[in-house]
Order: sequence, then structure tokens, then C-alpha cells
Amino acid sequence: MQLESTESNRPAGQRWELIDKYGRRHTSLRISVTDACNIRCKYCMPAVVSGFLSQDRLLSYDAIARIVQVLARAGIRKVRLTGGEPLMRPDLFKLVEKLRSVSGLTQIAMTTNGMLLRDSLDRLVQAGLSHVNISLDTLREPAFREISRRDGLEKVLGGVEAAVRSPLQVRLNALILKDINLEDLIPLVRYARELRIVIRFIEFMPLDASRAWSADQVVTGDELRRIVESEFGPLTPADSSDPSQPARDYFFEDKIGGIGFIDPVSKPFCSDCNRLRLTADGKFRNCLFGQDEWDVKPLVVFPQSESADEAIYQLVRTCVEQKHPSHGISQIGFHPPERAMYQIGG
Ligand code: SAM
Ligand code: SF4
Repeated sequence: MQLESTESNRPAGQRWELIDKYGRRHTSLRISVTDACNIRCKYCMPAVVSGFLSQDRLLSYDAIARIVQVLARAGIRKVRLTGGEPLMRPDLFKLVEKLRSVSGLTQIAMTTNGMLLRDSLDRLVQAGLSHVNISLDTLREPAFREISRRDGLEKVLGGVEAAVRSPLQVRLNALILKDINLEDLIPLVRYARELRIVIRFIEFMPLDASRAWSADQVVTGDELRRIVESEFGPLTPADSSDPSQPARDYFFEDKIGGIGFIDPVSKPFCSDCNRLRLTADGKFRNCLFGQDEWDVKPLVVFPQSESADEAIYQLVRTCVEQKHPSHGISQIGFHPPERAMYQIGG
């Protein structure tokens, strides 16, 4: 079934929008398509997983597209496919195709570990993917093995290089752990500059399945920036026209490549957060660190009707209205959410 915009069906005078108690307008949706992954990054997954969600618990591509169609009416403009590893879900390009026909979206992006990217790239591009973020924490195979508990760095690099040759807008995401890959900081920056792409460093958050996070393992964005500046010279802040953008981006003096720092631990950006999350099993979350979830799956019924769409919208509106002002990582009594990063969708 082709999903058409229902803009024209909107009841007169009714305005759908996702604004929370603190005035934050939600325009961005992270969609996890699976909790499965082909590697086991220690900052995210346990070494041994007791099982992933069964196929019947996952939202279907039609269901995801339908939800996005409803939320596009309420102001969602950007979607990012994630997981788990999104490319573990068969035929992901079919979801991208469905999303492309949702009117109002300005960006269909994906975050991937890159292992399966090279072979799926062409179809994703043809289907309408516009942006890809590839996670890369090291250029050394032993460190890759230590972090991800798997082999496969070459596959990731093959994926990065194929993406750079494609029409997609490509960025690298890296996570630096003090005792494991701080020595990779400069080589990673150099690699991104050689490819003339932006690399962003994200602080380690308490979302690892093993609950081994502690503040002293976090290398802050400011620490990383000082090291980068001592090697490459002063960085100039890039103007950001979008305050909800979590990264602080910088130019190098020679304007080659670019670098950004996402500092949710040392400099929370909650006051400008515009994001919602949808888990692979159909639960809406208003924050990575939230304890509550809203189950949309029973509401996604076919065929589509205005009242069913309204029910989906009202559920998501409730989720948004109950969003807290901040994630509270550094508050006394903070508890990480029950689900780890790979089960929520990063
Ligand atoms: N598997 C894909 C990947 O790795 O790009 C997509 C899902 S992964 C959960 C998305 C991003 O979350 C990755 O860039 C990863 O580095 C980041 N991530 C995972 N666990 C994290 C943690 N505990 N703190 C900060 N970022 C984390
Ligand atoms: Fe898999 Fe991504 Fe988590 Fe690594 S960060 S274990 S690649 S979901």
C-alpha cells in the first residue's frame, strides 16, 4: 500500500504538534529497527546476549512508515534509522522507500557500524537515504577486537570508503574510552580529514549493558578538543543555525574535514532536545535515560483511519508531555534505564 500524506485530511482548525511542558518542539525521530547486532561493543552490549527480539515482536516496515506519516503531520522532519545494527534487518531499503513517500520529511538518515554497509549502499541510496553516520572508534584491528569483541575493522573501513564515494552525506562517530582507544584520537581525526568528512566524538554514557560505566572512564569533549588542538592548531567553532543540534562543531584552520563533540555527560544539551525515540518493539521514549515507555504497537491498525491516526498522535503527545527537563545523569539517585543502548536505539 502506498502511504500518502494526510495533510489534506486534517480536521479544520486542529493543529498537531509535539511541544513539551518546557516549550521544546519535537522534530526528530530515532527509529530502532532491530536490537540485533553483528558485533558486541563493550560500551553498549553484553559479551553474551541471551536473545534478541523475535520477528513477531518487531514493528513491521508498514507499521513504522504509518507511524512516521502520522508524526510528520505533527512536525517530525528528520528520521534516523538505528538499532542494534540497522543493516541486520533484512531489506532495510524497503523501509527507506516507504519513508521517502511520507510528505514533510526533510532527512532520512541512518547510523550504522558499517560492517554490512558496502553491499547495501546502492540500494539504500536509490531508495532515498540521505545521510549516514558510521561508527568508528579505532583504526587498529586489536583495539577494534577489544572494543567490539569481534573481527571486522576492514569491513567497516570498506563501508566508510564506499559511503564517501556515494552521494550520501557521511559522518564518522567515535567513542573514546580512557584506557582503550585514547591513542586513536589523532589517527581517527587524520583519517576523517583525508576523506574530507566530519568526525564527531561522543562521550561515553551510562547505557552499557554491563553497567560498568563510571565517570572516570569518560574522556570529555573538552579534553579531546585540547589534544586535537595541540596537534592540528586552533579549532574555530562552526555557526550552528540549529540549537537542537547536540554537537559542537568546529573547523580546522585549513577548513579540511571538520570535527564535532557531543558531550551529553559533561555538557548536557537537554534544554534544546527535540528528539523522540521509537524502539524496535514499538515503544516510544522521550529520552535515552527515561524510565517510561509508551507502547504504540497495538494502535497501528490497518486499514488506516483518521481516528486510528489520532490515537497514535495522542499517545506520542502524552509521551512528549511527560518529558523531564533533563536526563539527570549527574543527579544523586540517578538510575540508568533498564534497557541498554542497543535495545533503545542510539
Ligand atoms: N549499531 C549502530 C552503530 O553502532 O552505529 C547503530 C546503533 S549504536 C547504539 C549508535 C551509536 O551509539 C554508536 O555511534 C555508538 O558508538 C553509540 N553508543 C553506544 N553505546 C554508547 C554509550 N554507552 N555511550 C555513548 N554512545 C554510545
Ligand atoms: Fe552494535 Fe552499535 Fe551497540 Fe556497537 S554500538 S554493539 S555496533 S549496536
